[in-house]
Amino acid sequence: MKPKYASLSEIQRELTAGTTSCRQLVEFYLTNIEARNAELNVFLEVWADEARAQAEAVDAKLAAGTAGRLAGMVIGLKDVLAYQGHALQSSSRILDGFKSLFTGTAVGRLLAEDAIFIGRQNCDEFAMGGSNENSAFGPVRNALDPARVPGGSSGGSAVAVQADMCLASIGSDTGGSVRQPAAFCGVVGLKPTYSRVSRYGLVAFASSFDQIGPLTHSVEDAASLLEVMAGADEFDSTSSQEPVPAYSQLLTPAASYRVGYLANAIELPGLQPEVRNALERTLAELRARGHVVEAVEFPLLEQMIPTYYILTTAEASSNLSRFDGVKYGYRAPDATDLESLYKKTRAQGFGPEVQRRIMLGTFVLSASYYDAYYTKAQQVRRLIKEKTDELLRQYDFLVLPTTPTTAFKIGEKQDPVSMYLADIFTVQASLAGVPAISIPAGADAQGLPIGLQIMAGAFREADLLAFAQSLLPG
Ligand code: GLN
Repeated sequence: MKPKYASLSEIQRELTAGTTSCRQLVEFYLTNIEARNAELNVFLEVWADEARAQAEAVDAKLAAGTAGRLAGMVIGLKDVLAYQGHALQSSSRILDGFKSLFTGTAVGRLLAEDAIFIGRQNCDEFAMGGSNENSAFGPVRNALDPARVPGGSSGGSAVAVQADMCLASIGSDTGGSVRQPAAFCGVVGLKPTYSRVSRYGLVAFASSFDQIGPLTHSVEDAASLLEVMAGADEFDSTSSQEPVPAYSQLLTPAASYRVGYLANAIELPGLQPEVRNALERTLAELRARGHVVEAVEFPLLEQMIPTYYILTTAEASSNLSRFDGVKYGYRAPDATDLESLYKKTRAQGFGPEVQRRIMLGTFVLSASYYDAYYTKAQQVRRLIKEKTDELLRQYDFLVLPTTPTTAFKIGEKQDPVSMYLADIFTVQASLAGVPAISIPAGADAQGLPIGLQIMAGAFREADLLAFAQSLLPG
């Protein structure tokens, strides 16, 4: 699906030439939203009038020569990002009626550079899922084939870009939620290094994994968005003090890189042959271009999913304890005392997948199982991180598929474990806290997009983006 504009620089050229205006851009995206939102279920809320007003303000700034770096960028926000005065629900009933009291750091930085926000995007409830079927507002549909999932949890954010309903989206990635939907929808999705972007104003799922990341058509736009959002923040003590390079100016790759690929990942049963072929084509292309390409073994592949799901459910069970009917959103109307208020609110407000994860997380943290599960998983995470870091010292990049298959059918994965197993390739970067990007790498026989994933060492986003850019046509 070819977008009208593939990057912000194209738009900014037209803005400079006077052949379009922010006001016209907003109208263009609103028309596309109008055309397909009812079918695809992407936007939970469209901020049409506000976006028009913002656009007029940015047009005035452009005329005065005072516009910010993102002037002309029309953006959608995943429903997990706080934007003052706007509804924020994490696609959950438990936040019915809740409005953000403040604007999160990343969102505020985008606004300060004159990004225009067009609406709030559907996602899996509390970002838990890989298909967007867990939303309290119903599934999002893949624009290429509406019988199929867009991936998740940032499914609305991916389809919005895919279907040209905005130029870029801001999602969140805990174990693949930006990269996997990007792969299923044929767009670019970047998960930065853990701590690169402040989490202040991001609804917490698993705090030691969560990162905000962009979904875009071009690597260049991912770079521009990261550059604006990244950097230290006094409101998130885990945010890194590491200086933020001008990523968008650093997109020239080195002539030769050392590239590793996980041999045991390629052999995985259940890997769709076309996904394997796409990876092998890329590896051959990299060799032909003079990069060093070598197979590496990653012994802990089988431990990846259990480790991720033990730790993230543990963190989620703690993070989600705040939704109790007292402070925010939904409150069960039929409660009789405090305990029944908690129980009824949570039983009625949370969907089945979120309840499952809270129970799993509570179990692995319970006194008699803590050491067997939680402590053990922390130890294995450490090993996965050390091994990944070691490989990323030996190699500039690790390349692997983003997903074992292309987009599956809505309703196809009924068993939660089969859904979890589909995260096999994305959770490694999350467990290790390193940056990873998914870029489009062709399509399968049915025309469904295939994603290629590239991981780099912590804080090496500039190299990662430059290399990813060199792998895209054009
Ligand atoms: N699919 C993964 C999960 O359900 C990833 C979710 C995410 O990154 N938010 O946990």
